[in-house]
Amino acid sequence: MSEQRNVPCGLCRYQHKRHDLSCEFGQYFPINRLREIESASKFFGMANLLRLMRGAEPSQRQVMANSILREAQMWANDPIHGALGHILTLSSHIKSVGRELKLVNAMLAHCSHQATPQIATTVQVRVLL
Ligand SMILES: [Zn+2]
Repeated sequence: MSEQRNVPCGLCRYQHKRHDLSCEFGQYFPINRLREIESASKFFGMANLLRLMRGAEPSQRQVMANSILREAQMWANDPIHGALGHILTLSSHIKSVGRELKLVNAMLAHCSHQATPQIATTVQVRVLL
């Protein structure tokens, strides 16, 4: 634990602050996520990031930190649409895979009807969407 206190967290490193026992959120923003922290500060502002973290219950702070960093990455990857662009991409992918699944099930049904009754089996691939 004390060894971890000597390693600056990503927030302190980014803000050029000394990481010490007064660091509020260092445990949620490790140094190996510095690039994501830079994005989060760019897109949301450090004051807003800290305000969001202070507003979260301590038990939810890791989830909040991960959410902030993840959304910042989405904005970095798609500055026009941000998280919505990511959601639309995933939605499009789900629809595409659903169409493919429908086709595979139709092909399986066709093959089942073509097979002899001794070896015919009913196979259907299902995915919960
Ligand atoms: Zn720190």
